[in-house]
Amino acid sequence: MTNQELQALVEKISRESFHQPFCHQASFNSRLKTTGGRYHLSSHDLDFNQLVYEKYGEPELIRVIKHELCHYHLHITGRGYQHKDREFKQLLKLVGGSRFTPPLSTSLYQVYRCQTCQQEIKRRRKINTARYVCGSCQGRLKFLKTIEM
Ligand SMILES: [Zn+2]
Ligand SMILES: [Zn+2]
Repeated sequence: MTNQELQALVEKISRESFHQPFCHQASFNSRLKTTGGRYHLSSHDLDFNQLVYEKYGEPELIRVIKHELCHYHLHITGRGYQHKDREFKQLLKLVGGSRFTPPLSTSLYQVYRCQTCQQEIKRRRKINTARYVCGSCQGRLKFLKTIEM
């Protein structure tokens, strides 16, 4: 999705769900790591994390856009725009915005299984199975798979 497509999507959601125009700039910001979006109080612009779209698709991106548009419209009209404010919570629920950003950063884990007690052990780093034994029974470990979490 390009920035132009994002801008058009934000404007459409603003019209359809908030019945108000979005008259500022929406763009993807690659510096956002774990947050899905950000509303800038001073410029009124919105930043979004491309990973939301890449990992969870358009439906989740739309929920994040609705969340940020709640900040935007409430702030611009001088109402309670912060997460703790009742107006924010009510509007978020009304339009169906996301309450939490889904997990965006993933890491690879190596999974080992103890040959004696069958317990699975996950480690970020590869371990030397010739030297490293199971923590609970001292059994030998065997590499099972690499997973993304
Ligand atoms: Zn927020
Ligand atoms: Zn064991």
